[in-house]
Amino acid sequence: MLRRQGEILLPGDELNVIEEFIPGEGTYDFNGVVYSSVVGKAFYDMINRKVNSIAFKRPGVTTIKKAKYVLGVVTGLREDSALVNIYSIEDKQTEPITAYLHISQISNKYLNNIGEAVKVGDIIRAKPLNSTIPIALTVKQRDLGVVYSRCSICGTKMVKQDEEHLRCPNCGNIEPRKIALLQVKKGGS
Ligand SMILES: [Zn+2]
Repeated sequence: MLRRQGEILLPGDELNVIEEFIPGEGTYDFNGVVYSSVVGKAFYDMINRKVNSIAFKRPGVTTIKKAKYVLGVVTGLREDSALVNIYSIEDKQTEPITAYLHISQISNKYLNNIGEAVKVGDIIRAKPLNSTIPIALTVKQRDLGVVYSRCSICGTKMVKQDEEHLRCPNCGNIEPRKIALLQVKKGGS
């Protein structure tokens, strides 16, 4: 199922399967499905069979330097770092900013492999360490890390199993992550 041409997309919105259109600007591929990595508009390039998510340009972008946190989508994994596309600074939407998360900035525990902490398609809450592109990010703080993830097997939205694992409510698959542990306000008495 395709989106309408020009339809508004949020990061993580599904566009099509890779056999239909290959991923172009503002998109990424996860298990053969193409998703938007930005807040943008769907543009199917019929000639090149390529799908793009054209990001909205927002003038007067909040300065990233002093931001307490940003939100971004993991668009690729390298041996020791994850590529991240920032789409929001604190809660203000921004045009996409290229960033990366180095394995040393995930936690104080030793990690063999960055894939134990983040996967392609995850939405992460991270803190910028500088303001030069690509922006270096950290998720070492307790309230930073993965905030949204899909199951690698069936694509269902994962739920928290414990502080270090997510579980798929559909197929039961359990995967490790550096999860953002956000404080939940306790209500009532
Ligand atoms: Zn699953």
